[in-house]
Amino acid sequence: MPVRLFNTLSGQVDELTPIDGKELRMYACGPTVYDYGHIGNFRTFLVIDVLRRFLKLSGMPIRHVMNITDVDDKIIRNAAAAGIPIGEYTPKYVDAFFEDLDALGVQRPEIIARATENIDRMVDLIEKLSAAGAAYKTDDGSWYFRLRSFPEYGKLSKKDLSGMEDGARVDVDEYEKDSARDFALWKAAKPGETSWETSIGRGRPGWHIECSAMSMEYLGDSFDLHAGGEDLMFPHHENEIAQSESVTHKPLAHHWMHVRFLLVDGRKMSKSEGNFYTLRDLLLKGYKASAIRLALISVPYRHQLNFTFDGLIEATAAIDRLRTFNSRLVKSVFPAGENPEIQAAAKKAHEDYLSALANDLNTAEARAPIFDLIRLSNTVMDQGKFCQSDREAVGAVLSSFDAVFAVIEDHDAGPTRLAVQWAEKEGRLADVSPELLAQQSLTDGAINALVAERDQAKKRRDFARADQIRKELTEKGILIEDSKDGVRWKRK
Ligand SMILES: [Zn+2]
Repeated sequence: MPVRLFNTLSGQVDELTPIDGKELRMYACGPTVYDYGHIGNFRTFLVIDVLRRFLKLSGMPIRHVMNITDVDDKIIRNAAAAGIPIGEYTPKYVDAFFEDLDALGVQRPEIIARATENIDRMVDLIEKLSAAGAAYKTDDGSWYFRLRSFPEYGKLSKKDLSGMEDGARVDVDEYEKDSARDFALWKAAKPGETSWETSIGRGRPGWHIECSAMSMEYLGDSFDLHAGGEDLMFPHHENEIAQSESVTHKPLAHHWMHVRFLLVDGRKMSKSEGNFYTLRDLLLKGYKASAIRLALISVPYRHQLNFTFDGLIEATAAIDRLRTFNSRLVKSVFPAGENPEIQAAAKKAHEDYLSALANDLNTAEARAPIFDLIRLSNTVMDQGKFCQSDREAVGAVLSSFDAVFAVIEDHDAGPTRLAVQWAEKEGRLADVSPELLAQQSLTDGAINALVAERDQAKKRRDFARADQIRKELTEKGILIEDSKDGVRWKRK
């Protein structure tokens, strides 16, 4: 089944196929690591995760690159305010970002590229732009892109930039839509700022050149798909196109995907409005990582998502239904044979599910047939007419659903525990909901989850993690015994 996705560049829904006929090469703009990620950021990363999981489910090999912007205006400003070098400032937020992705069940891209480890590529590209007449150096030693050298500027965002002033410059990485100006490729070193000594002078890269240089380094001059949040379309992606195509004269990416941002309670999320949430804020309020994932992916990515706490409660209930049904399906004893009604319904649900995802990743339409199938199966089970072969048929649909939505298998205990530990370390225990604090004094369920996690860790030979869990449990008075029949535990 062909996968079709809206393409910002062409303005229509296009089929997504690898240009080289082998693997789909995709680049998605990663985080700028100056703070904890908020749920708007994570909506984008989750949508890209849904896409990559669906492509894999469809049998398409992929090569997915994500950058980490670990040098930029905001990082330099925050590190300076904290009185430390950027190399000491960013690791905490890089680690937090990956911990948050893990909590949300977001798979890692094949390649993660850090800006500070790819400075040479950026310098190379600026030299090539200079040779092509598309870049110039100013008296202070900074380099700018000459917008007039690229008449196609604006083709992605469809902006009319005819009024732009030749030679007017902007040196901040993010700017408003009306200020189409020559933008900074390389910023000359300022006293006290992190900089690199290079063939184009001492300084540091602008944000836009980072993504041009790294995408082409790891995916080639022209690749299949470039994705990011809608706020990156202009100027960031427009600038990436200008920088890359001025040198290669090939399309940087054939397909451009933009994920819409979300509202919270119907308003733009902002710290001053008091409706700004990081993932950690929500975990500390007692919401499960799986519910946050489901709430953020259930609205199709081109629609604005209005994030509300009612929506999170709805997602929590939906996950309960999925998990309760799955456990009934796995554990019940059914009569031999098959029920033609269930067989036909399972086949239809599977087809509808896959075709909704293939149709511009319509996650809302993809969810619906799964819940319909669960409703029907429950009714038929209650009547005693659900059979052994139906278990396989319905189980196959659920596993296909979970390959993309990834909420049925329960991994919720770990992220919640980590969030509470983090709150303790950061002096934010006051933000933890009382119910959650009470739960965290270990219940049997929590212990079972930890024991199961240790088992998993041992299976993937992560003995450090396994030992860490045993130690944690021992400290809390839980003794673990490994035996031939599996793992037993008891309270001391
Ligand atoms: Zn980027």
